[in-house]
Amino acid sequence: MNYFTAMPATMFRGLTTLVRASVARWSADSDIASAFQQSPKCTLLADAFSLRIVGANEALRRALGYSEKELRNLSLGDLFEREDDNAALIQQLRKPDPKVPLRARQRPKTGKLIEVEITGYRVRATRRPLLAFITNDVTLRNRFEARQLEKQGHLDHLAHHDQLTGLPNRLFLAAHLPNAVEVARRNGQLLAILFLDLDRFKHINDSRGHETGDRLLQAVAQRIRDTTREDDMVVRMGGDEFIVVLKNVANLEQVDLAATRIIEALSGPFDIEGKSLVTTASIGVSLFPRDGADMGELLRHSDTAMYHAKDRGRNNCQIFSPMMDRRLKQRMLIETQLREAMQTGQLGVHYQPIVDLASQKIVALESLLRWKHPTYGFVAPKRFIGIAEETGLIVPIGEFVLQRVLEDAARWRSSGCALVPIAINVSAIQLQRSNLPELITRSTQAHGFSPTLLQVELTESTIFERREGRNGELSQDAVTHLRELGVHIAIDDFGTGYSSLSYLKRWRVDSLKIDRSFVRDLVTDPSDLAIVGAITAMARHLNIPVTAEGIEGWQQLAKLRELGCQLAQGHLFSKPVPASECVRYLRGGHIDLIGGDRRIDTLEQSGVHPALLDELLQGTTGR
Ligand code: C2E
Ligand code: MG
Ligand code: MG
Repeated sequence: MNYFTAMPATMFRGLTTLVRASVARWSADSDIASAFQQSPKCTLLADAFSLRIVGANEALRRALGYSEKELRNLSLGDLFEREDDNAALIQQLRKPDPKVPLRARQRPKTGKLIEVEITGYRVRATRRPLLAFITNDVTLRNRFEARQLEKQGHLDHLAHHDQLTGLPNRLFLAAHLPNAVEVARRNGQLLAILFLDLDRFKHINDSRGHETGDRLLQAVAQRIRDTTREDDMVVRMGGDEFIVVLKNVANLEQVDLAATRIIEALSGPFDIEGKSLVTTASIGVSLFPRDGADMGELLRHSDTAMYHAKDRGRNNCQIFSPMMDRRLKQRMLIETQLREAMQTGQLGVHYQPIVDLASQKIVALESLLRWKHPTYGFVAPKRFIGIAEETGLIVPIGEFVLQRVLEDAARWRSSGCALVPIAINVSAIQLQRSNLPELITRSTQAHGFSPTLLQVELTESTIFERREGRNGELSQDAVTHLRELGVHIAIDDFGTGYSSLSYLKRWRVDSLKIDRSFVRDLVTDPSDLAIVGAITAMARHLNIPVTAEGIEGWQQLAKLRELGCQLAQGHLFSKPVPASECVRYLRGGHIDLIGGDRRIDTLEQSGVHPALLDELLQGTTGR
């Protein structure tokens, strides 16, 4: 009897169902096994305890070059390694986290290591716990990433470094200084920020050309780098500005020493394209934590200190103090207000007579700029002329003064006054940055005047220092041009600068004005008397007339007469007055002594001989 036919029908049906199910499971299992074998992903099974390899699919066997049998003799440690820490790698392989792939090197039979990324997971198998690993060759990806990184690094370097000098730039500083400040804060250390600006670099650039300027900047950068420690940051902020960050400094002396070393290193001549160039630098220093808590504040304060160094005559180093900050804010305020003043007609010109002591006539008027602020009233020129020079505002201001002088002179002329020469004060910057001879020619012509109406007052440094202007013309050439036009040249504030005889001779100036500081104590201070005596004697030999400025008292006047001074100016004769008040001087009216009714009292109280009084009160006529 057939075994199956002997079975009851129900039992047979049950068995066939069972067989069908297990055949189905068997074929599903074998499909899964085939899928595992044929997967293009390199996959490996290992015993979870011994880490011995228990199986690998074809893709992995191909990649490793081992047969299934050979693989079964190996463990995970034979197949994978990590350069820095093998033990850690094995630990991680023991407890794989499928969400965190591992980086390792896979060792094929050939021995040539391959970079792989391994994703592992635990497998709940029937007989024993297994670990499964999928390995992915990342050699190409790594190479690509490395190349990208290198490219990024290169771009990063380009973005954070200055092309010209190769030094780190302001972006670099912004990225690294906050960190340096943080480190100093944590370690309780001092940090110094040195803000360095080359003196008159713009002049070198303008006069020698940008090529030379660039070479000089490169050489300067090198010298700064050479004087600083490896650890210190040297940054080119742009233009001729550099920042040096000294890390972990012990005290102020150390900072001072470092700054002095830089100044000294820069003071030697530079050989640029076969020519010797000289430059100096002004340095401002701020210290962390004393002068600021963060990068912004530290940089701002070192910049303020640097401007202070410029004010102190350049080529020096200044350490920040809160007082400097106040001054800077005041300056900035003045600059903004001055710009506004120019646009809203707050500027004007007053005139002060210059008297010839022999003829008692007014022989000239000095024009003096006046700024009447709507809130503060008159602002003294010494408070804003310097700022106007630094900001270049002096150029349009100078043009305004010239125009106003010519307009006033035209009005005086049309009201029948006899004109006298009018002096205008001209700053060095004005002489360099504007074409003054051309401006004077054009403006005087427009009003129908001869340039001989004008007298230009220049300080000694303006006239004698060899400076080139924007158009390449030396200030001395500009002075020569002015002389050729017939403009008189006076040296203002004489005695406070070079006071050089040979210069005076060479430049054949038309007159000298002795600075008020020598006249003030002339009667009481023997050394002032000696100086004024020497200047007047020297000028007499050279045949140059001398004007004494700032005469306020009769005794001063008497002394000046004694010394042979020919021209005089001061409150004793008249304070600077508005154009309308000049008319009476130019019409031959009297000189107002200190003003109004007090005039006679002052004269009488002064005890001056009545004859001299008459002399001074005599009418004045110009030419
Ligand atoms: P400065 O050219 O030497 O002008 C003489 C200064 O002495 C004027 O001061 C005048 O008011 C003052 N002064 C004249 N006599 C006396 C006196 O008896 N006692 C006293 N205490 N002072 C007297 P101010 O107007 O304040 O001008 C100061 C300086 O500002 C001028 O010195 C000049 O260097 C500059 N400045 C004035 N106006 C201009 C201008 O239009 N352009 C330029 N670039 N500078 C100007
Ligand atoms: Mg003057
Ligand atoms: Mg003066």
